Amino acid sequence: MESIYGYSEEMLKNYMVNMGEKPFRSSQIMEWLYRKKVTSFDEMTNISKKFIEKLKEDFTLDRLECVTRQDSYDGTKKFLFRLSDGNLIETVLMDHEYGYSVCVTSEVGCNMSCAFCASGMKKKKRNLTAAEMVLQILMVSILTGFRVSHVVVMGIGEPFDNYENVTTFLNIINNAKGLEIGSRHITVSTCGVVPKIYEFANFPLQVNLAVSLHAPTNEIRDQIMPINKAYPLEVLMPAIKEYIRITDRRVTFEYIMLKGLNDTQKCANDLCDLVLGMNCYINLIPYNEVKEKPFKRSERSDMRQFFDILKKRHINVQLRKEQGSDIDAACGQLRSNQMKKEGN
Ligand code: SAH
Repeated sequence: MESIYGYSEEMLKNYMVNMGEKPFRSSQIMEWLYRKKVTSFDEMTNISKKFIEKLKEDFTLDRLECVTRQDSYDGTKKFLFRLSDGNLIETVLMDHEYGYSVCVTSEVGCNMSCAFCASGMKKKKRNLTAAEMVLQILMVSILTGFRVSHVVVMGIGEPFDNYENVTTFLNIINNAKGLEIGSRHITVSTCGVVPKIYEFANFPLQVNLAVSLHAPTNEIRDQIMPINKAYPLEVLMPAIKEYIRITDRRVTFEYIMLKGLNDTQKCANDLCDLVLGMNCYINLIPYNEVKEKPFKRSERSDMRQFFDILKKRHINVQLRKEQGSDIDAACGQLRSNQMKKEGN
């Protein structure tokens, strides 16, 4: 049986039509699932008893089991969920001035093998289904009572290595009858899977794209991101430029600051040259040190100097503050002790 949370309104509509039901039932069902947050089909009182029995035959309403929840002093919360096949995943809720944002995991494990990242230390076991991604947001809002206004697909996994399910998920959470997360409040982050960047340029929702750049030259990027061997900068950058041209939207570059590796003045200037003339925004992110990895966070003064060079060259840049590092919920830290214990 399939999870009903993996069905977009369009998929539900097709289902209705196939079952001889009125297509508008799909929006009624979306409202029951995401507004009233029902736990059984029987609660859907505007649906006929007969059709409810049909729904029960075809779909589950199973949610995710919350194994642990950790709260950071800064308002960040991290949830460990168990999936129906026993795999564990993590989801993070961040408290921003502009609202609550959920960081969604897209795969069990990750195959990208970025040298600095803890989340990629466990190889990919499988894609998450669209339902499992939708449920991360639904569960967090049920468990906290907060209205989630923003979503970033920046948890464990490479979303463009699970493109079909991720795009279905985006359609479901954006739906006006459902969780109604505005497309401009949704960001998908990729390490640079070039063919999918081109494909995403034609995805109909106006969601934001972030690219994990982390280095201004192939020489440095090759050392830390294996994806750069497949899609080096001279292939990646034209893809992003084409994405910007087609969508007319600004792209965000993420750039973690690694001591002595990518934080020199020369790197700052190379980065400016690389993004020259592009409609982009650069997020400088202090590296979160990971016990098993040799990398160190750049000195505050080096980050400042790097930032100043970009500013002086009129690049849109911010030096991001980290959140949730005391509960290992910050970027690149997802993979809790519990997950290690259970061999996930
Ligand atoms: N696979 C996608 C989605 C993950 S987003 C991608 O690579 O974009 C998670 C972000 O955190 C990525 O930019 C990743 O490079 C970054 N990251 C990984 N480890 C980190 C660490 N230890 N400190 C700070 N950022 C880290």
